Amino acid sequence: MHILVQKYGGTSVGSVERIKNVARRIIKSKEQGYSVVVVVSAMSGETNRLLDLAHEMTPEPTRRELDMLVSTGEQVSIALLAMALQDMGHPAISMTGAQVGIRTDANFTNARIQHIDDKSMRAELAKGCIVIVAGFQGIDQGNNITTLGRGGSDTTAVALAAALKAKYCEIYTDVDGVYTADPNKVSDARLLREISYEEMLELASLGSKVLHSRSVEIAMNYNVVLHVRSSLNTTEGTLVVKEKKEMEQIRINGVTSKTDEARVTVYDLDHKPGVAAAVFGELAKQRINVDMIVQPSSTEATHTNRISFTVKKSDLKTVEGVIENLREMGAVKGKHAIDRDIAIISIVGVGMKSHTGVAAELFAILAKNKINIEMISTSEIKISCVIAEDRVLDALRGIHAGFGLDKEPEKTAPPAASARKRA
Ligand code: ASP
Ligand code: MG
Repeated sequence: MHILVQKYGGTSVGSVERIKNVARRIIKSKEQGYSVVVVVSAMSGETNRLLDLAHEMTPEPTRRELDMLVSTGEQVSIALLAMALQDMGHPAISMTGAQVGIRTDANFTNARIQHIDDKSMRAELAKGCIVIVAGFQGIDQGNNITTLGRGGSDTTAVALAAALKAKYCEIYTDVDGVYTADPNKVSDARLLREISYEEMLELASLGSKVLHSRSVEIAMNYNVVLHVRSSLNTTEGTLVVKEKKEMEQIRINGVTSKTDEARVTVYDLDHKPGVAAAVFGELAKQRINVDMIVQPSSTEATHTNRISFTVKKSDLKTVEGVIENLREMGAVKGKHAIDRDIAIISIVGVGMKSHTGVAAELFAILAKNKINIEMISTSEIKISCVIAEDRVLDALRGIHAGFGLDKEPEKTAPPAASARKRA
């Protein structure tokens, strides 16, 4: 029998009524002949409520106790869902991360799954039981409860699907799927039927909150087909799949933005080997995630450089500490500046690999909207620009319209191989 893994997010299990609806949906899949494993999040708002409680108790709760606390949210929803299913006459069993053998590292509040022992799940499925697993949590070598980072239930679901070699992993959420842009910001955003893992990964890490990025990485590595869809209706959502050749015919698939980053510029750095290594080495030691980095060419006369980079605003305090240390060590001699009022907008599409002129078109759209570009970075399937935060909506809407993302794309044949890569 084929195994189907379904994941329901916080809004989908936000009330008794909604949990009953979810139970009915699960029963339908079971009646189609699937063995069903269900992963659920905590009821909406619950994880935040628990975190607030912790911070009322102490300004700096230890991360082990935080995980002990927040992991309880999911335990409530799995038990309630199992009760709903049993009440409807279907055998079901709820299980915690530890009970299904989800082993993680010991990095509390942001642990990574290392191993899943599928035996206990398979035994329950063999009895015809619906298995309901608590998302977001695992257990480390020392049997401490760990959590996988905010939004981590997606990752639990995909990891279980990979371990069980499930046919699909359905991610049920409160939106219809993955859109060309955030529909709350761009009114004519279009639902995408299909998107590649690579594109989804870029979108997830670029601030579109539909899926936990780690879940997309696991899906890509284990070839798990993801179906992102709404739990509130029966419309088909978005399939996240391996890249297909014809996907390259579409130039770009989406535009996204994030405003939770700030730009740090360090001036008057010596223009010699090892300086960038010192700055970013110290940041890495403090586990600061640096996103974009730009170093203009040196000012010949003074033999100095400046480097700008972006980091999460919530990391700024740590970053300033690192810069002070570097100053004491002599690696930083000049001043530094911080700009919080920035946004990063990005366009994503596997078609960029073979279409030329996409960057030029993006810059032309921004120019037409009189939006200044402050930093640029590119990857094979993404172009990002730093702009002023107060222009972010204009940029999103301008780009969405400019690239015609509201319409089903015409599949333009990519240029001949000889013309490739000369963007
Ligand atoms: N309940 C956790 C959170 O709110 C995990 C999840 O919902 O995926 O982040
Ligand atoms: Mg989520």
